[in-house]
Amino acid sequence: MTIDQLYNIYRQYPSVQTDTRKLKTGDIFFALKGPNFNGNEFASAALDAGSAYAVVDDPNLAGTNTRIIVVDDVLTTLQQLAKHHRQQFNIPFIAITGSNGKTTTKELVHAVLTSGYRTYTTQGNLNNHIGIPLTILSVKADAEMAVIEMGANHLHEIASYCEYTLPTHGIITNCGKAHLEGFGSIEGVRKGKGELYDHLRANNGTAFVMWDYDYLHTMSKGIPAIIKYGTTDTADIQGVVKQSEPFLSLAMIKGAHIPFINSQLVGAYNLPNILAAIAVGTYFQLSAAKIKTAIEAYAPSNSRSQLIEKDGNKFILDAYNANPTSMRAAIENFAAIQANNKVLMLGGMAELGAESLQEHEGIINLIKQHPWKAVILVGGDFLQIDHPFIKMANSTEAAAWFKGQQFSDTYFLIKGSRSMQMERVLG
Ligand code: ATP
Ligand code: MG
Repeated sequence: MTIDQLYNIYRQYPSVQTDTRKLKTGDIFFALKGPNFNGNEFASAALDAGSAYAVVDDPNLAGTNTRIIVVDDVLTTLQQLAKHHRQQFNIPFIAITGSNGKTTTKELVHAVLTSGYRTYTTQGNLNNHIGIPLTILSVKADAEMAVIEMGANHLHEIASYCEYTLPTHGIITNCGKAHLEGFGSIEGVRKGKGELYDHLRANNGTAFVMWDYDYLHTMSKGIPAIIKYGTTDTADIQGVVKQSEPFLSLAMIKGAHIPFINSQLVGAYNLPNILAAIAVGTYFQLSAAKIKTAIEAYAPSNSRSQLIEKDGNKFILDAYNANPTSMRAAIENFAAIQANNKVLMLGGMAELGAESLQEHEGIINLIKQHPWKAVILVGGDFLQIDHPFIKMANSTEAAAWFKGQQFSDTYFLIKGSRSMQMERVLG
């Protein structure tokens, strides 16, 4: 079956599903394979459960049911179908990648654009080779804008996403020390994320660039249109931190007719994320009032820089993920907060490869530069290093310890890699 033929079927049944547990009647089931499952085995169950069609790549299934479509490779077919669908739209597709802050930036950009345009976007964090095609296929005919998060942990990934997403606009939030295992080095990270700029450069695209980062100047050279945002005078959209405790407020200096923004985000490291959303909104001619309202109404969820008050204590819960760059930003932000009793509860950072020990040591040295009431370091490579702080094996142990203490009027920063599940500390 050609992609054209499959696309005609998709037009009739425009809902794609890869998880049999989430199937709805009339979905097209794509039988993907993973390390621990083979979707082909679920194809007939999917049809029994109401799928309109099942796309499979096990040749033995050919002819077993008229609603089975056999292709060479299900994943590639899903991506090709997404590309075909993408090509039906002559609207901005804004791609967002970077080491930290992609989802937050995506949600802020989406919130702003929705105030004036029918905007489709990545749900949650579905930002990989499966999530991106699914996101593209969820874009409906009435769309005026699409915002697509792209995550990557090795070279050539972003380039391949761009082949079927065909972004017209792009944002690299930053290039930091994340996924060093796959990228090899910070240069590798820049090269990998830079594949988005390469695509924009080759396709007459527009980039929104955080102008405080010199490396982004170099990386973005040659892109036909560049909108600069940041705290520097040379930015088109310029804003600075007005206040960062407890929530971040920005004073806007130029480029947007907004005097200030009072966000519901914790941490000065959210400044670029907010400025990116202002830059996109302004570029697409949304009014200052709409942009301000949209950003101020956005509150994060899922343990991303949430501020929680409980039993007379305050918690910055930032347990969604961690890498050396975001860990440093969070600690420095927390160190700057004026409070009497500050406690750090930090989990290990995953996926750092050969630099892991050294990066954990770096965090320990940073912690030593500030006064704390207590520091609890949980799991990962924090366990391998000699340090004067409280060591715990995992977040279950940390949670039990926390329960046994009687804290009051204390301010906590809780952060760690996703696998550390540091949110457990709060029960
Ligand atoms: P993932 O790789 O898991 O998709 P992401 O890039 O989408 O992550 P977010 O989910 O937006 O990032 O934010 C995760 C955490 O990264 C935040 O809770 C915060 O600690 C940190 N962070 C967010 N924005 C920035 C930024 N601009 N610079 C540094 N750290 C940031
Ligand atoms: Mg994300």
